[in-house]
Amino acid sequence: MHATTGSAKATKYIFVTGGVSSSLGKGIISASLAKLLQARGMKVTIQKLDPYINIDPGTLNPYEHGECYVTDDGAETDLDLGHYERFLNVTTSQANNITTGRIYQSVIDKERRGEYLGRTVQVIPHITDEIKRCIQILGEGDRYDFVITEIGGTVGDIESLPYIEAVRQMRWEHPKDTLVIHLTLVPYLKAAGELKTKPTQHSVKQLLEFGVQPDILVCRTEYNLSKSIRNKLARFCNVGVEAVIQSIDADTIYDVPMLMQQERLDEVVLDKLGVEHKGNLDLNRWLNFLERHKNPSGDIQIALVGKYVELQDSYKSIVEAFTHAGAACGVKVNVKWVHSEQVQRDNVDSLFADSHGILVAPGFGSRGIDGKIEAIRHARENAVPFFGICLGMQCAVIEFARNVLGLEEAHSTEIKDYTPDPVIDLMEEQKGLADMGGTMRLGAYPCNVAEGSLAGAAYGHDMTEERHRHRYEFNDAYRQQFIDAGMIPTGTHPDSGLVEIVEIPGHPWFLGAQFHPEYKSTVVEPHPLFRGFIQAAVAYAGMTTDQAAQPNGAREQTQG
Ligand code: GLN
Repeated sequence: MHATTGSAKATKYIFVTGGVSSSLGKGIISASLAKLLQARGMKVTIQKLDPYINIDPGTLNPYEHGECYVTDDGAETDLDLGHYERFLNVTTSQANNITTGRIYQSVIDKERRGEYLGRTVQVIPHITDEIKRCIQILGEGDRYDFVITEIGGTVGDIESLPYIEAVRQMRWEHPKDTLVIHLTLVPYLKAAGELKTKPTQHSVKQLLEFGVQPDILVCRTEYNLSKSIRNKLARFCNVGVEAVIQSIDADTIYDVPMLMQQERLDEVVLDKLGVEHKGNLDLNRWLNFLERHKNPSGDIQIALVGKYVELQDSYKSIVEAFTHAGAACGVKVNVKWVHSEQVQRDNVDSLFADSHGILVAPGFGSRGIDGKIEAIRHARENAVPFFGICLGMQCAVIEFARNVLGLEEAHSTEIKDYTPDPVIDLMEEQKGLADMGGTMRLGAYPCNVAEGSLAGAAYGHDMTEERHRHRYEFNDAYRQQFIDAGMIPTGTHPDSGLVEIVEIPGHPWFLGAQFHPEYKSTVVEPHPLFRGFIQAAVAYAGMTTDQAAQPNGAREQTQG
């Protein structure tokens, strides 16, 4: 463990807590601060502690917490890790997302192994020690100058108490190497015509009851905080006025690092932790992205077909990947959310008439499958750029089997146990598994990419590595039939030969990926397949990349 002296080498731990309301954007604030520290040449990682009892979000319905994000090492994690990777362009791992379930599981396992030597196992110190261990693991080996730990939930929640207690202990044990940022809401009361500081005062009082004095307040607000409001917050909450940071609503999450820089959040953090402000901020690539993102030369529309479209957080990484690829191609990508259950033979043409590309989303289970297949038929027959991800790719295989190979009852055995033509089938390694949590084919696997294919052109390499999260797979028994009829595997796993990408040569852009490219798209490195797809959509809209014409009329001209 690091000494309490605050030596130059010690990893610094920054905790981000939230008060007053949920959904204030702790993840974005954490990622923005990390971005600013990284731009100063520091090594930074971010961790999310989730107070729920599930071991991980892998078994959670997306309606609960939105998308389940997957890391290279196969951890199924909170979607905030996606923000961390997209902002920092640095990979995360299982260690970056811990839940109460995981903490308790590890303590209980130790208890069963007799490691507590007969003592009573308690929240304090055993659970809090395990929390502290999970935080400090990231600081081991001097891999990082800063570990930013975001505590999920809102201060005062029963379930987040052990985390706040762990923060209190770490503040006490390492006063010079730790810091607490508390994110609150300063609401505007229309009737009074005023911003109100009381909820923040109460929230800080609550933290104080648990023995934690925040060092910095980040105040989410719809209007600028005046000097007098800042002074008031400083006075009531025992922080310096320079440590009252305004976080005003932004047009895009990608503005937040610059807004935090204007408020000098990074400088206040460095000062409080006694770290020298070395070097200038290098944010060139970030600013270049922002410039392109904010000044597109036209709009395109992509239809996103899925069954969770009411909750757009379910497809967070896909939407962000559109933003990255759109900026790279000089266009704004508008997403048309299409519920897969609504797509039918008699409405499919009108439903997609104004879209320049169709993406069929990942998913599980049978709901909305027919609509997905119908959307794919429309894209294939009408030469509309199509991108299928995971279940979306599997549906493309089913559609092709039914409508091109004439295997009318072809299906995935996930949806129909006894189909005569199981063109998508359970992977060998998945057979006989009973546990649902953490047992899918998860994380990064290598993929050979065929030269001359869309994927080959997009990647510019004959090999890539992509993240997976699935149990079912293209059934190799049908490979030759598909190839003969024009659906070609252009990406395969080097050892097993498993089909990872399918394409239809002759179609302007039709690609299904068994993996999830969206997890690897970042601000400074948009994903090659998303780029390829958006380029194809731009061409379909009758625009040229970087010189995109105005949206709607353009497509009408090319499509007649
Ligand atoms: N349900 C499919 C499978 O398990 C696809 C999963 C996904 O889309 N992530 O193979």
